Amino acid sequence: MLRIANLRGVFTGEGFAKMQGRRPCAEDCGFREGPLDLICCPTSGRIVDLVPTGRASTFPLTDTLDGSGLIATSAWIDSHTHALFAGHRSTEFFARWAGKTYREISDSGGGIHNTIRDTAAANATLAQDLEHRLRQMLAAGTAVVEVKTGYGATASDERRMLQIIADVRHRPGLPEVVSTYLGLHTVPRDVSRSTHVASMTAVVEEIAKNQLASFVDAFPEQGFSTLEESRDFLEAGRRHGLGIKVHADEITDMGASLAGIRLGAASIDHLEHISDAAVTALRDSPTVATLLPATSLFLGIGFADARRLIHAGARVALASDFNPGSAPASDLQLTMLLAASQLMMTAAEIFCAITYNAAGALGFDATHGVLATGKAANIALWKTSSPLSVASNIEGLEQIIIQRTRPIAVVVRGQLSVGEISSDCERPPQ
Ligand SMILES: [Zn+2]
Repeated sequence: MLRIANLRGVFTGEGFAKMQGRRPCAEDCGFREGPLDLICCPTSGRIVDLVPTGRASTFPLTDTLDGSGLIATSAWIDSHTHALFAGHRSTEFFARWAGKTYREISDSGGGIHNTIRDTAAANATLAQDLEHRLRQMLAAGTAVVEVKTGYGATASDERRMLQIIADVRHRPGLPEVVSTYLGLHTVPRDVSRSTHVASMTAVVEEIAKNQLASFVDAFPEQGFSTLEESRDFLEAGRRHGLGIKVHADEITDMGASLAGIRLGAASIDHLEHISDAAVTALRDSPTVATLLPATSLFLGIGFADARRLIHAGARVALASDFNPGSAPASDLQLTMLLAASQLMMTAAEIFCAITYNAAGALGFDATHGVLATGKAANIALWKTSSPLSVASNIEGLEQIIIQRTRPIAVVVRGQLSVGEISSDCERPPQ
C-alpha cells in the first residue's frame, strides 16, 4: 500500500456525486482539513482509506510519501483530445488573420486535411509523439486522457491509429487513456462522402469486437458530415456496445446536441450554438455538456454559454480539445483559466468540470473523479499559500486555477507517476 502522509487538506469532491455534478457549489468540493493520510492500493489502483494522520493502518504499507504542507485533489481528467497527430498548422493562424475562415481553410485542402496528410506520412514517430504528449499532460496534473482518432483518410488508417493508442496506453508511467473512434471527422477530398461514411461505419463492429475503442464520435457540421450520416454512424457504435460522443453545434446549430442527447451520448461537446431545446433536455439527462474554451480562444469565435447551461441544471465538463489546428495547447490550466475569465465559472464549477463531470463524459463517474474509499487512486498534490480551513477553503482551488499552478506530484492508479516528493518521512506505526 502507498500512504500519502500528513496532508494539509483534501478536496474529496464527494458533494459532486451527491448532486450528480449539477450546479456545483463550494460545499460540494468536500474539503477535509488535515493532517490526513490517503492510503492507496497500487494493485487495484484504488483508494483504500482516508484517515487522520497517525492513526494505525490496518493495511500493510510498502511506501510512504511525505504530503506535509500539500493539499490533495482528484487529478484532472481531459475528456476530449485529438492528441494523436503529426505536423503542425501554425500557418493557419496567420491565414485566418488574412481573412480566411476555418471552413474556407478546410475547403481549400488545409485544416484537418493537412493533418491527415502529415499523419499518414509519419508512421514511425506517431507512437513516440503521443507518449511524449501524454507525459506532458500528466506533469500538468491530468491522470486520465481521452484520445480520439480522426486523422486517418481511410478506415484502415483509422484502425491503425486505434492500434497505436492501444499500444501506447500500456506503457508505464502514463495517464490512463480512453480511446475514441472519431470515424466521421472530415471527408477526404478524393472520395465521395457516401463512400467515406459507409466505409467508416463498416468497421465499427470489428473495432468494438477487438476492444480498440470505448466510444464512437462524429462531427456533424456544414462541409463535414450531415446529421443523418452522423446519427447512423453513432447508432452503429451503440449497437456494438460502444459509448457515444458528438462534436455538436460548434460552428452552426444543426440540431446535433439534441440528437446526441436522444441517442444517449455520454457527452456532447463544443456547444457554442446549442439550442434552447437542447439546453432544457440536458437538465433531465445524464449526458454531459463538455465545453472547450481553448478552441474559442484560438479560433477567435464566441465562447459557449456556461452560465446558461449550469443555470439550467446541465452537467458541465471542461476539456482541452488539444489538436494541432484549433487548440494547440494540451494543458488544462489554460482551459481552467479561460473558464474562470471568459465562461464566468466559479472555482467549484471548474473543479467539478475537470474531475467528476469529466469522468461522466467518459462514462466512469462511478469510479473516477472523487477521492473516496473504493474510487480510483488518481491524485494530484498541490502547494498553495492560501489559508485553508473547513469554514473557508475555496481559496486554495482558486489559486490553482488562476495561477496556472503545476502539481508537486501526480499519483495514477495508486502509483507515483510524476513529481519530486520526499519519501523519507517517518513511517507511521503499522
Ligand atoms: Zn474535437
